[in-house]
Amino acid sequence: MEETATNFTVCGIANLLAAIFGVDAARVRQRLGIPPERAKNYCLNCKKPVAKHRKCCSRKCQNEWKHIKIECAVCGKLFARRQSRVLRFLKQPQRNGKLQEHFFCSKSCCARWLGKHFGFAAYPEHAWRPS
Ligand SMILES: [Zn+2]
Ligand SMILES: [Zn+2]
Repeated sequence: MEETATNFTVCGIANLLAAIFGVDAARVRQRLGIPPERAKNYCLNCKKPVAKHRKCCSRKCQNEWKHIKIECAVCGKLFARRQSRVLRFLKQPQRNGKLQEHFFCSKSCCARWLGKHFGFAAYPEHAWRPS
């Protein structure tokens, strides 16, 4: 069986012609009717090359990329939160007019933090004392 010119060698010729005539390889390709080289995209998470219209190579990567790791303000544990949610939180002032800057891994950590900063520890006068 005779060896046929593969797409690869044709692309090589386009590059060669481009180098010889000092023209753009994409133009030579166009003249020769060779489809333009696919623009490469890279996975936003693991940096692997992916198809042009894709952001990530896999669902797993997409999921990982969408979530960012934040440290719990109470226990220091790293936990994942949706990037968009965190950004929204950071931009949006809370009821007290301050911007959110603390994140908690769980409700119990949040409660512990609130207790420490706004509870009886911070305002002992609020604590119920037996008379
Ligand atoms: Zn990936
Ligand atoms: Zn925590």
